[in-house]
Amino acid sequence: MTITPLMPVYPRCDVRPVKGEGCYLIGERGERYLDFASGIAVNLLGHSHPDYIKAVQDQVATLMHVSNLYGSPQGEKLAQTLVDNTFADTVFFTNSGAEAVECAIKTARRFHFADGNPQRNTIITFSNAFHGRTIGTISATDQDKLRKGFEPLLPGFVVVPFNDLDAARAAVNDGTAGFLVEPVQGEGGIRPATQEFLAGLRQICDEKGLMLVLDEVQCGVARTGTLYAHEHYGITPDIMATAKGIGGGFPLGACLATERAAKGMVIGTHGSTYGGNPLAMAAGSAVMEAVLADGFMAHVTAMGDRLRQSLEQLIPNHDHLFDSVRGIGLMQGLKLKSDSRRFVAHLRDNHGLLTVAAGENVVRILPPLIIEEAHIAEFIEKLSEGARTYVPPADE
Ligand SMILES: *Cc1c(COP(=O)(O)O)cnc(C)c1O
Repeated sequence: MTITPLMPVYPRCDVRPVKGEGCYLIGERGERYLDFASGIAVNLLGHSHPDYIKAVQDQVATLMHVSNLYGSPQGEKLAQTLVDNTFADTVFFTNSGAEAVECAIKTARRFHFADGNPQRNTIITFSNAFHGRTIGTISATDQDKLRKGFEPLLPGFVVVPFNDLDAARAAVNDGTAGFLVEPVQGEGGIRPATQEFLAGLRQICDEKGLMLVLDEVQCGVARTGTLYAHEHYGITPDIMATAKGIGGGFPLGACLATERAAKGMVIGTHGSTYGGNPLAMAAGSAVMEAVLADGFMAHVTAMGDRLRQSLEQLIPNHDHLFDSVRGIGLMQGLKLKSDSRRFVAHLRDNHGLLTVAAGENVVRILPPLIIEEAHIAEFIEKLSEGARTYVPPADE
């Protein structure tokens, strides 16, 4: 047998973390890494945040799980916090981002069903998008690497180019349920929607009675300096998926909706065994308490500005390798002139710096939101050193 006990779907590397401290991970041999990946935009309070640990530990010792057949004071608390601080009137809790997107798709379709238009069931999505790994969410993208060999995929999705409002408008017909879009594409290479595009989608939805469904699984929960990224655009969705950061490291997602959009989601239409259990709710509430505290969002914005300026200053020094930087707040992408996967591995293996590769030769920079200026300075130093010592493959 050559297969590994962990199903070999990930190209796992030699970094084998066993402990986390703030913005650092510590490996099996005691080596330290500066963590500007945050478990892919998850550990927004860094590792071992004392308030977060205490909230989760207390809840473990009190009550971990009960079924959704019972009343949930823990769920009501977190849902109320989300309702109070967003466009939404109601929340369904899930265990992952893909499940949150699935619930969002179901909510959009079910709205039109309940509204007397069951034929309005096609969701328009966008090129280069990532919505998860379920059959439904891979059906919602055009990325061959996610879809190949998993056919037959689900009907009911149409993909048009991202940031192309005319194409989006042209794709709408009598069978359209709405749009599903990331305000800032994450896996696709940290590509923010343009103002015109996102506001335009909102306008089309208003004109035609469609659902605007946002996937804020990666860009949400204060990552861009506002609680949700769409706030930068001055619009609100009808339905939104959130996950990653909201659990701070505990598996948690949510589908948020307005009262109108949730019209079809009545008793018996959806469910989850684990979704919203007391332990998950304690983790989510601890995260929300931290990010909604006075000054937190301003700190993210300030650190985002500092990071962005530092990157912009660095690019001309290494212009054989670095192309440009894009993103919002602490969700930045450094676009390279060659493959980013190799460079990310080089930073990791030779400079103790963790980042994440993304589409279009982008190095994703997703630090914990609690970073200080000293961490940015250390990051820039390691990145700069890494660029100096990097030897791109000969054929590039
Ligand atoms: C990560 C991600 C998902 C999927 O989340 P999982 O928790 O891995 O299921 C969906 N949408 C976006 C935008 C993501 O970044």
